[in-house]
Amino acid sequence: MTATLIDGKARAARLREAVSGAVAALKATEALTPGLAVVLVGEDPASKVYVANKARQTEECGMRSFEHRLPEETSEADLLALVERLNADPDVDGILVQMPLPGHIDTDKVVLAIDPAKDVDGLHPQNAGRIVLGKPGLVPCTPQGCVILAKEAMGGDLSGVNAVVLGRSILVGKPVALLLQNENCTVTMVHSRSRDIAALCRSADLLVAAVGRPQMVRGDWVKPGATVIDVGINRVPAPEKGEGKTRLVGDVAFDEAVEVAGAITPVPGGVGPMTIACLLANTVVAACQRRGLAVPAM
Ligand code: NAP
Repeated sequence: MTATLIDGKARAARLREAVSGAVAALKATEALTPGLAVVLVGEDPASKVYVANKARQTEECGMRSFEHRLPEETSEADLLALVERLNADPDVDGILVQMPLPGHIDTDKVVLAIDPAKDVDGLHPQNAGRIVLGKPGLVPCTPQGCVILAKEAMGGDLSGVNAVVLGRSILVGKPVALLLQNENCTVTMVHSRSRDIAALCRSADLLVAAVGRPQMVRGDWVKPGATVIDVGINRVPAPEKGEGKTRLVGDVAFDEAVEVAGAITPVPGGVGPMTIACLLANTVVAACQRRGLAVPAM
């Protein structure tokens, strides 16, 4: 079997289009232009690229983008003061503080300081709690992207699906598992202390890999016909491209798994592009929820 490729790039483009449509409608009917504030502390080159992409895509969707670039030596108190100002700013509907933060800043304190109604990253304990309760709220972007892709690949309804989530991080594995439960999947969470991980993975109709271990999931870990969502983004040496060159691979050995799975996300071009698209959608959700407006379908 050769699996169908799940095209995250195309799906993300469709979601961005839907966001643009929702923004245009909010401007026309409510005179409302949602705004997203992105805060970057320090000079991390990858974070700089992410922040620039987020700002560009926010504007392309017709929303307002507020970029705050702070020096590496910014104190925790100054960052918390900026978050407070953004919380109070009526033009700001979403606040994203780019992680990782410099070591002298307590990340938990910063996340807790963000108004949960503007927490478009879905990291505040109040939003995490709403997922546990199965209540609507702001859902973390990468997990949300995984569920959108899985749902579409499996015909729009995940009820009764045996799902295995490999990884239980706060950022990815745990929220994915909870969201899949909310979609009526039967979910097994697998982590570094689990026994016979290969057999557990082989039991999955839907396998989500989020371990951060390059190509850990082999072809014979995949049930024939299963849907595989590979969240991993790992940079590995690629001597075939020249000395010192690297390439991106997922947590799944794609070349093997593609022969067994029914559908699979590539890396890059799978889950990755969904993350920013879901962030833009969350900004619209936050803008509407804060004002008691109906959240448009996106
Ligand atoms: P993380 O915080 O390092 O968590 C990794 C999880 O995998 C942990 O729960 C760990 O188990 C489990 N694990 C590690 N080694 C294992 C092993 N040998 N067997 C079984 N379980 C193992 O990583 P993360 O933040 O969730 O990220 C996972 C991957 O997704 C990374 O490659 C990351 O780059 C990628 N990612 C992609 C996006 C995107 O936009 N596409 C966004 C976020 C992350 P324990 O809990 O037992 O330690």
